[in-house]
Amino acid sequence: MVARFLLLFVIYSLCLSMTTQSRADNSPIVNIDQRSVDLTQFAMSYFIDSTGAMALSQVQQQNFTNSQNELTLGTNAKTTWSKIVIKNSYSDTLRLFVHNPDAYHLEEVSFYETQSAQLINQSVIQLDKTGPKANMFGGSAVFSFYIAPNQQKTIYVKSVTFSHQWFALTIYDEEHSKRALVGNGNYIALLVGMMLALMIYNFFLYLSARKIENIVYALYLISGTVWVALSYGVAANFFGIFSAELLQLNSNLLSMPSFLVIFVMLIFETKKHYPKEHIALSIILFLLVADFIYSLFDIVGALKPASSLAALMMTVTFGVSISLWRKGNTLAKYFLLGHSMFVIFNMLAVLYYKGISNANVINSHGVGIGILLEALMMAFILSYRIKSLEKIKAQQTELNRLVDTDPMTGLYNRRYFDRKSEELIAAMASNQQELTLLIADLDHFKNINDTYGHDVGDKVIIAFANILTSEQGLADIACRYGGEEFVLLLNCNLLDAKQIAERIRQKAQETYITIDEVQTVQFTVSIGVHSVAHASTTVKETLTIADKALYKAKSNGRNCVEVAA
Ligand code: GH3
Ligand code: MG
Ligand code: MG
Repeated sequence: MVARFLLLFVIYSLCLSMTTQSRADNSPIVNIDQRSVDLTQFAMSYFIDSTGAMALSQVQQQNFTNSQNELTLGTNAKTTWSKIVIKNSYSDTLRLFVHNPDAYHLEEVSFYETQSAQLINQSVIQLDKTGPKANMFGGSAVFSFYIAPNQQKTIYVKSVTFSHQWFALTIYDEEHSKRALVGNGNYIALLVGMMLALMIYNFFLYLSARKIENIVYALYLISGTVWVALSYGVAANFFGIFSAELLQLNSNLLSMPSFLVIFVMLIFETKKHYPKEHIALSIILFLLVADFIYSLFDIVGALKPASSLAALMMTVTFGVSISLWRKGNTLAKYFLLGHSMFVIFNMLAVLYYKGISNANVINSHGVGIGILLEALMMAFILSYRIKSLEKIKAQQTELNRLVDTDPMTGLYNRRYFDRKSEELIAAMASNQQELTLLIADLDHFKNINDTYGHDVGDKVIIAFANILTSEQGLADIACRYGGEEFVLLLNCNLLDAKQIAERIRQKAQETYITIDEVQTVQFTVSIGVHSVAHASTTVKETLTIADKALYKAKSNGRNCVEVAA
């Protein structure tokens, strides 16, 4: 009986040792056969401890799954153990360094050095605890060990995450280890630098143009930059912000879309032009802001609806930009393009963090790429908008000019004169000006029309207008008051004005209008002059008096200047 039990026990032990043996054999081996070690891609294996409480000795008995050194396992892998089997086939003892450059977002990262299943050394890094952290260099956790020729060691790396489990392990010699720590996150720092430069530029733009959308855009960039900095370890590498502290910065996940929604509202002026879309945007903005305020008190709680809110925000902004595009807004098209980039790259990133798709350069940097592309498109939209605002302004100036001028002569019209002369007379005293009004009417104009036709009449009117323009000073107003009646408000005293009137009359008399190759026509003008007495005088009063002087000029035989008594 005892013998049978013993036999069974031996068989059982043999089987057990064989399976242990085969498990060990199944784990991929990293073979090192040279002094220079720079391993950023190698095979290892992992095991998810769903209890979260296993000790190394228990873990060593578990089944490990083969994998690459870069892992992304989503949210159901809070405690994950990686196993790297390393064999030294080189002739010398090597000092090797295992890095986890993504350690900054973890709660705990621990290294266990074993040989023939025996623990030789260990390093436990509790990242959520405050105080100095040995073996942390910026956002990277580093563990070093020696390995003799022909020796085989197994390194277990325990990784405990707050939410998503993702990291990459690397193996270096001393020199490459130092180089990796110095270079870590440099390209992300470059991205962050670009966004900061864009942000500062927009603050300057705001200072010069006072357009609130520049400030909102700059705030979007700040949120985006913080988000990128925390997602890729820049916050840890440059500012020593880790795990739990890092968690609070996740509130940028809410502030960034809030600024984006405000940006859309401002840039498309939805409140004024698109009330329905404005309501939709307002609702999503309210939800985002409410959750952001909540995040200041309970970040973990606030983050739960955050991704749904972000998805809702994307849907709403998408819908709104499509709707605006269909309503003929050209800017909406560009926004839609930039926003699509943002959504696509962030989707890729989500698939990566959730462990649905394997890691690659694009999806592991999806958030950064998405934010940058959208930021660039927003910068383009801002400049495009400046251009279109300037165009509108120029159109308005042109429209105002058209409203105030007479198309035939290019002189101001009666409408403009009535408005402007009233202003000038009112400001006369404070500007210490003397104003004189001239009213000119072409003599026997009906005859010109009757004899040579309306077209020639028009030519005469234009010729006279040109004379007025040539005599008019910068501060004066010349206007075509009626058909062949003109009014000038001159910025001078009566004596000077009389001289000017006389010159005008003279010039008119000396002007020849060509009708055809042989015929020309001449014309004369009568002018009434009256000085504006004081600021309380109205234009109408002055005009009536000047008109009387004109009447006098007409009755005195025309082609003369008369000053009102
Ligand atoms: P007077 O010397 O007393 O001013 O004689 P007049 O013939 O010029 O008389 P009045 O000033 O009343 O004549 C105005 C005429 O000007 C009447 C109208 O046919 C003509 N007229 C008004 N506007 C235009 C225009 O735009 N083009 C042309 N060709 N004629 C116009
Ligand atoms: Mg007339
Ligand atoms: Mg006339």
